Amino acid sequence: MASSYGYPFQAQHCLAISQFSRPDIDTLLALGEHYLDLNVQKSQDQKILTGKTLVNLFFENSTRTQKSFEIAGRRLGADVINMSVAQSSVKKGETLLDTATTLNAMNPDILVVRHGSSGAPALLAQKVSGSVINAGDGMHEHPTQALLDALTLRRHFGADFGGLRIAICGDITHSRVARSNVQLLNMLGCDVRLIGPPTLIPSDADRWGVDVFHDMETGLKGCDVIMMLRLQLERMSGSFVPSKREYYHFYGLDRAKLAFAKPGAMVMHPGPMNRGVEISSDVADDPDVSLITQQVESGVAIRMGILHALSEAQDGIS
Ligand code: ASP
Repeated sequence: MASSYGYPFQAQHCLAISQFSRPDIDTLLALGEHYLDLNVQKSQDQKILTGKTLVNLFFENSTRTQKSFEIAGRRLGADVINMSVAQSSVKKGETLLDTATTLNAMNPDILVVRHGSSGAPALLAQKVSGSVINAGDGMHEHPTQALLDALTLRRHFGADFGGLRIAICGDITHSRVARSNVQLLNMLGCDVRLIGPPTLIPSDADRWGVDVFHDMETGLKGCDVIMMLRLQLERMSGSFVPSKREYYHFYGLDRAKLAFAKPGAMVMHPGPMNRGVEISSDVADDPDVSLITQQVESGVAIRMGILHALSEAQDGIS
């Protein structure tokens, strides 16, 4: 049977950006756009996950992503169960695979997994019968964040945003958001730059298909979009920056540094934000330059799109 959106989407899981082709991505963005429109209308006619169970399995803290999947699942009619580590038997020593076996016995249709170790969702995907969505694994990938960022760009700049120059700034080394975004934005034809102190730029970044800069003034020149990243202190062993104050002085996005970018440049941040560390409140909260609220909105819509596509693929509708 043909899918309800006219494209043979066949992925069983959503684990990494690299698994998707350009037509897969275009389809997911179009579905995301469809749900952005429907969410505004508060349409009830979208319960395509009725009778399905979505389990949110979060081994790392999350507010935005977990809630976003929960709302997306519920809007589509799924039964949603949230499991966080604090309440689970993982704290009592159960291994990841024991957890997978237990969960699998409950037959969830979709398992949304966040884990501190790279590759954990891919490992679970081999052990469970439902679809697995990677909601962030260690420093590896956060594919739904990159997709929601692309949806936000498409909404703001139009479907043809492939020519944009985009700077991803800050703690690139520890960022799964940066890794997923670089791959996706490159696939979409954007001109991607990384800006950060040498200690926070991965040593293999020269093979990522990006230009690397260590100062904001040169790096931001001609940029249409600035994606700021959080200093991921919880993933740092040792000291990567002299102090937060000094970091803000050189890399924190305030009005003065924003002026280095193209006039009209827009600012994004995946959240949670450290105000006064990587971004000033003045910039983050200015609706004329900040797309941060739109990113949250796009998050629900793109996750509805992903759930929709995976669910139809599960049912053999493609
Ligand atoms: N929320 C994003 C993540 O889970 C970014 C961050 O935590 O800084 O990777």
